[in-house]
Amino acid sequence: MDCMICGIVSKKKNFPMPIIYEGENWIVNQAYPSKIRGWLVISVKKHRKAFHEITIKESLELSKILLMLSRALKETTKCKKEYILSTNEGIEHLHFHIVPRERKFKKEWIGLKIYNAIRIEEKDSISKKELIQFSKMIKEKIIF
Ligand SMILES: [Zn+2]
Repeated sequence: MDCMICGIVSKKKNFPMPIIYEGENWIVNQAYPSKIRGWLVISVKKHRKAFHEITIKESLELSKILLMLSRALKETTKCKKEYILSTNEGIEHLHFHIVPRERKFKKEWIGLKIYNAIRIEEKDSISKKELIQFSKMIKEKIIF
């Protein structure tokens, strides 16, 4: 099976962003390429295609992760709120996007148009260096 998220989870795929959090069932990293610092992707470690497939244990851990990441994003970006999205259409491996919705936000990113900030080419992304730096900052702010 050639699943990009399974590749990241097993560390067989060389993904440029460091792991921000790794728990028993989930792994978190900054999205890349991305126009937004703090656009985080939370992926379930087992290859699951839909939310109804996860276990209670996975669900409980996810709930904690969403809260701690939201707080870490609030502290680092001073965001107004967090967007939490999951469609699993691009990659059919269950994952969630958590995005800091900052006060001054581009009109073309409001609501579901937020995907415009991630469906981009590498040349239009914030640099790897900056996103890696930001990942380290977020990691330090995570408190379980
Ligand atoms: Zn997978």
